[in-house]
Amino acid sequence: MRALILIIAFCLFGACVVYAQQPSATPDLRQTSAQSSTAPVPVPEPSEKALSYYRSGIVLWIVNILWGLLIPALFLFTGFSSRIRDWAKRIGKWWFFTIGFYFAIFLIINFVIDLPLSYYQGFARQHAYGLSNQTLGKWFGDEIKGLLIGLVAGFLFLWIPYLLLKKSPRRWWLYTGLLAVPFIILMILVQPVWIDPLFNNFGPMKNKELEARILELSHRAGIEGGRVYEVDKSEDTNALNAYVTGFGATKRIVLWDTIIAKLDQDELLFVMGHEMGHYVLGHVWKSIIFFSLLIMATLYAIHRTAGWLIDKFHRRFGFTELSDVASLPLIILLFSVYFLIITPVALAFSRHNEHEADRFGLEITRNNHAAAMAFVKLQQENLGVPRPNVLIKLWQASHPPLGERIDFANQYRPWERGEQLRYEELFKQAK
Ligand SMILES: [Zn+2]
Repeated sequence: MRALILIIAFCLFGACVVYAQQPSATPDLRQTSAQSSTAPVPVPEPSEKALSYYRSGIVLWIVNILWGLLIPALFLFTGFSSRIRDWAKRIGKWWFFTIGFYFAIFLIINFVIDLPLSYYQGFARQHAYGLSNQTLGKWFGDEIKGLLIGLVAGFLFLWIPYLLLKKSPRRWWLYTGLLAVPFIILMILVQPVWIDPLFNNFGPMKNKELEARILELSHRAGIEGGRVYEVDKSEDTNALNAYVTGFGATKRIVLWDTIIAKLDQDELLFVMGHEMGHYVLGHVWKSIIFFSLLIMATLYAIHRTAGWLIDKFHRRFGFTELSDVASLPLIILLFSVYFLIITPVALAFSRHNEHEADRFGLEITRNNHAAAMAFVKLQQENLGVPRPNVLIKLWQASHPPLGERIDFANQYRPWERGEQLRYEELFKQAK
């Protein structure tokens, strides 16, 4: 399930997710913003705590990968998956309900097995590093809501690839990949209006002066009727975040209340310029197309290898066709393996978009110092490591490392040399 969730998460890209810690260590830096806007901002050294968070995060990442392979392999090779299918058949009777009930049983068992690791990662570890404000009740409630959303989505949609597997054993991967496009669009469309409000309260911005400055910036970026929402995230976390989400009528920019509290207005305006860059440069659309192609390539690879594995191990697996719903752990297992291989490609695409959004934000605000300071604050107040190991960058970084972002914010000033800006023609005159 993790691989599928990862893909959807990529598509919904919660941009700029940065875990911040205390609202401290900034006033001395803030006062320099007016006086030396051309002086480069140095990249701060990571704290001991940040290094510890980074190193333990690597161990946890490896544990997660192994866990994500081990659990579906156990479901398969013990024949447990085929037993779940037998139960589901007895309860469901009809093909459609067999698939739905199989998925429900499978998801609930996985939820329970994963619970200790989820608790450690999502709750205990975040509290140990001072990154979370969440009560245990809120954390568990959110986990249950996530499970219920997964159950509903699985019941509604999982029958489609299995129908395609049955009707078109040779081309199912192509049709499923093509159908993934409207499915992802639907998910992105409903996410901000149906899903996100289940977890937190969304409302208009409270600081009207800041809102007016943001709306003026969005007018210049060519975003009319720009919807900017503030979400009450401080009940969960100290993390700073701002992101673009939704599609068509539900498209919007969302600011967590935590980022409004911790960045000054110029820094926030740069962050908004970055988000507007995603919006104007069509990164949501481009990501949908890019990730649909990656999903299709992965499904093709599964198609080419699953049959061979079923031939070899069908006695242990307890099924002989990929169109048997008991094959779900096999599909997930292969998905995880292939996704690990294509992760560097997916992340490089994401980092490219993030870099261009940074460029857009710099060009529209022309405030290098505020941009660099925003990144410094994200790093200092979070447990950020500015220059991670290259393997960690390739396999984990959806954004360029903060050190690179600070360097770029310091040096990118083509307007000072009278050079052409890449996105200038997209900007409109201020009102
Ligand atoms: Zn971004």
